[in-house]
Amino acid sequence: MSDKPHQNLAVIGHVDHGKSTMVGRLLYETGSVPEHVIEQHKEEAEEKGKGGFEFAYVMDNLAEERERGVTIDIAHQEFDTDDYYFTIVDCPGHRDFVKNMITGASQADNAVLVVAADDGVAPQTREHVFLARTLGIDELIVAVNKMDVVDYKEDTYKQVVSDVQDLLKQVQFNTEDASFIPTSAFEGDNVSEASENTPWYDGETLLEALNSLPEPQPPTDAPLRLPIQDVYTISGIGTVPVGRIETGTMNTGDNVSFQPSDVGGEVKTIEMHHEEVPSAEPGDNVGFNVRGIGKDDIRRGDVCGPADEPPTVAETFTAQVVVMQHPSVITAGYTPVFHAHTAQVACTIESIDKKMDPASGEVAEENPDFIQSGDAAVVTVRPQKPLSIEPSSEIPELGSFAVRDMGQTIAAGKVLDVNEA
Ligand code: GDP
Repeated sequence: MSDKPHQNLAVIGHVDHGKSTMVGRLLYETGSVPEHVIEQHKEEAEEKGKGGFEFAYVMDNLAEERERGVTIDIAHQEFDTDDYYFTIVDCPGHRDFVKNMITGASQADNAVLVVAADDGVAPQTREHVFLARTLGIDELIVAVNKMDVVDYKEDTYKQVVSDVQDLLKQVQFNTEDASFIPTSAFEGDNVSEASENTPWYDGETLLEALNSLPEPQPPTDAPLRLPIQDVYTISGIGTVPVGRIETGTMNTGDNVSFQPSDVGGEVKTIEMHHEEVPSAEPGDNVGFNVRGIGKDDIRRGDVCGPADEPPTVAETFTAQVVVMQHPSVITAGYTPVFHAHTAQVACTIESIDKKMDPASGEVAEENPDFIQSGDAAVVTVRPQKPLSIEPSSEIPELGSFAVRDMGQTIAAGKVLDVNEA
């Protein structure tokens, strides 16, 4: 591991706009993919008549390996710039990208938004920008990608920039802070080196922009919270839950509790980057082993915390939500799926308590009958199965969620208060 400050980066954008290719390009240009791996993939790609597609190809293979559970930490791709050590916290190219985005973006400090120059702002561009804004991404770097496809035309670039700026204004993302870069992930323009193909652009390259991001806020002094991503059985070790530490530290010998499964024990070993470590801290992706815990005792969506300060399990909670898109209206009794950290639980919106004016943040109406697209509201939520979640004011890392229904993200929000089970 590097001593540089850590940045968790989400790469977001509409399908096929070039997210995977851009991640591959970043890894490649920073020397984070060993040359022999690139060569091997290149040969394979050429054999399959996909010559020139090596970056996307590397990404596909990493995703496949991850799905087969070959290694513990391959889901997180890493590279460094002069000032930062970056972890890509979601996994472009995955089938259910939004689901990853929800668990990924809530953990990300900053994001790269990839918008293809030939397609412009598309439905998932909107969806991801909305989520990034609601889930607390600080800064956005916008890569206007596939510039090669539009013959590096400045007019096309300017139009896309203007459309993205409109979108950012709509969701009240601080537009002054967003930087825009004309790129081709495929050809490598303006990724690590200023491109001769865009003489009209004299701004930063993508790597320069990443390197000049502000340093992430130091983690809070909150207790250990580690949402479980997967549970493996590894021969010689036993049950190995894996996940990313959101807050606090984990040390061997600690007594931990998994909620809502409500089991616990002593941490025997912690593994990170295939090496045993005595302790791990926020941002670390770890696999660990707890005395007496079997594979069926815990599951994805559990949160691990100290036995004496266990993760909170909600009977009900109040939350501030923003409705992004819903074909009709949302009324009390509606039960969509809530995605919070690594958990997915059907939750009933028990009451709609207040409608807020999104611009001023003032209460616009008490106990409204319904809310609809564009509305912000305070609601009371009842999970249909136990759910571990925390007030956003206490542990922001565990306090946000997205609401999905009919294959779409319809709302996102932050937890205000938890009424404990
Ligand atoms: P994702 O769904 O956003 O991850 O998109 P991919 O990275 O899988 O890219 C989708 C397709 O666009 C692939 O065929 C890529 O080779 C291609 N592509 C990505 N970036 C560029 C680019 O900058 N220029 C061109 N011409 N093609 C690109």
